[in-house]
Amino acid sequence: MEIKEQENSINLILQAIKNPKLRVVSACAPSTRVAMGEMFGMEVGQNLKGKLVTALKKIGFDDVFDLDFSADLTVMEEANEFAQRILNNQNLPHMTSCCPAWVKYVEKFYPEFVNNISTTKSPQQIFGAIIKTYYADMLKISPENIFVVCVMPCLAKRLERLKKGINVTNGLDVDAVLTVKELGTILKDKNIDFANLEDTEFDKTFGLGSGGGVIFGTSGGVLSSALRTLSAKFNVKDIKYLDYQINRGLDGIKEAEIKIGNRTLKVALASGLNNAKTILERIKSGEHFDFVEVMACAGGCVNGTGMPQYPNNDIRLEIVKKRAKGLFDSDLKNQIKGAHDNELIKNIYSNCFGEPNSEKAKQILHIKR
Ligand code: SF4
Repeated sequence: MEIKEQENSINLILQAIKNPKLRVVSACAPSTRVAMGEMFGMEVGQNLKGKLVTALKKIGFDDVFDLDFSADLTVMEEANEFAQRILNNQNLPHMTSCCPAWVKYVEKFYPEFVNNISTTKSPQQIFGAIIKTYYADMLKISPENIFVVCVMPCLAKRLERLKKGINVTNGLDVDAVLTVKELGTILKDKNIDFANLEDTEFDKTFGLGSGGGVIFGTSGGVLSSALRTLSAKFNVKDIKYLDYQINRGLDGIKEAEIKIGNRTLKVALASGLNNAKTILERIKSGEHFDFVEVMACAGGCVNGTGMPQYPNNDIRLEIVKKRAKGLFDSDLKNQIKGAHDNELIKNIYSNCFGEPNSEKAKQILHIKR
């Protein structure tokens, strides 16, 4: 079934676009916008989100949204989930859930840590759930008449949407996943000259993300973004330095301490599953951490297998650094630094969820285990 799904993905999407009964809704992950240009000989690391929106509209998508928005929603839920775990001293260290390859690794090789993994869904799955519930209600159309496509950096994202307990609707919340390489192929087949497209803004309903949402595409991004939101909640001052310490460079393991109230939290990130194994073994040997972020690809999603590939390892690492720089530059330019400052996020809580981790939020934005 999995291989068939992969082979059929492009056809499924193109057929959905031709079907007049379906509203076809898409969102682009942060990492995809700094890699798409490579398919068309453009400078590496440029943030080409405006061209990406135009390209998807030209193919025929009805809506093109920004997955940074749902990354912000993931952070609101996950930061609050982490705060609860700290207060209750339960399921620590808290481990991130947004990389399905990492989650699968824990399930297979370290099942004793499954309950440490956050129940908050990844940005992709939160996006699908929001579109098939909140957006369907807003448009007054049945979720069966909406086809959701996420433009993503890897094939693991295609399998994530089939996971038990992840869908809120009867079918799939995310109907299809398109990798950067596959989208490039569609654009070339349709003779769409990506490099010379005008820029278009994301559609407004879910078209705004914070700088914290943008850096989800790099290793350290989820941790950094969660700490920004927690720091605002608990009025922590030294977050800028911590942000820098966590995000820069391609070290496979990074560790830091953050003081919140009278408690010092120990946080760590691992980039690549070999480094994740090292951290897990350290925890098994009795070392204490409060929050652990893991991304299966070295450097994070900017190094995903669905992105343009380079056979030479040194060149590939340089490319990954440039893609990551593209996201850090976008974060620096973004006036909205954290998820909690995003007006669209404030709206969706006041219109729909009330507050993070409410019963309704748990029902739609968290996986059922
Ligand atoms: S780190 Fe790699 S495997 Fe994990 S979600 Fe990102 S691209 Fe996919």
